[in-house]
Amino acid sequence: MIDLHVHTWRCRHAVGTAEEYVRAAAERGVSVLGFTEHLPLAPALAAEVPGAEGYAMPESELADYIAEVREAAEVGRRLGVEVLCGVEVDLVPVALEHARSSLQAVAFDVVLGSVHFIDGWAFDDPARTGEYDRWDTTVLWERYFADLAAAAETGIADVMAHADLIKKFCRVPPGPLDSLYRETARVLAGTGVAVEVNTAGLRKPCREIYPGRELLRELARAGVPVTVGSDAHDPSEVGFAAEAARTALADAGYRSVLVYRGRVPEEVPLHAW
Ligand SMILES: [Zn+2]
Ligand SMILES: [Zn+2]
Repeated sequence: MIDLHVHTWRCRHAVGTAEEYVRAAAERGVSVLGFTEHLPLAPALAAEVPGAEGYAMPESELADYIAEVREAAEVGRRLGVEVLCGVEVDLVPVALEHARSSLQAVAFDVVLGSVHFIDGWAFDDPARTGEYDRWDTTVLWERYFADLAAAAETGIADVMAHADLIKKFCRVPPGPLDSLYRETARVLAGTGVAVEVNTAGLRKPCREIYPGRELLRELARAGVPVTVGSDAHDPSEVGFAAEAARTALADAGYRSVLVYRGRVPEEVPLHAW
């Protein structure tokens, strides 16, 4: 089993050390475990986000994070878990320069790109859902998917994380979404970026994998490759609902997933993980 998206205590809103995640992976039959801690927020982004210190590891801990994952990889070798060291990066315009320079300094296995903020609003934070009432939902979704496409077009990330995160609290536009999804898939396909099938949505109010069935089908049609991840913020969530991810992928028409090592993708057949 593959899980290419887990966090640790270092982002300040998850629990568990890297070693605890590796031990949980071994218990659950996860053979490839990718750590993707939230990269320290760009100072310009942190300045516009209330409570920014709770969303990512501090800049001073980036080297410690990498060292902690390397140590956990030693434990993984003994337990039969291959450990990869990656990062999840916020790709909003004010953060791009910081992201590029941070990533230049470190050789990660995989870089996940995310949109968690719209004009400084952490729209996926359960403590900040009041802001939804200030938006027309259709306009909000168009804005979110435009930001996601722009994030993919930066070329900074290997994989776009939780591609329809905006559905998390069930604020879904009343009209059809097929043209929005088709256009998103078209733009993503043109960038060469992959998208992850992220099972965390099943633990949230939306009760649905990110991306949902319709969007995943459009992505498959457009030829966008995929990875799989639990987005675990607790060791007990490692490998969460992997069977549901496999079923969703097969239903959408996927035959393989990607694993990244040293930012180079390798295809793994769907039945082999
Ligand atoms: Zn997180
Ligand atoms: Zn995320």
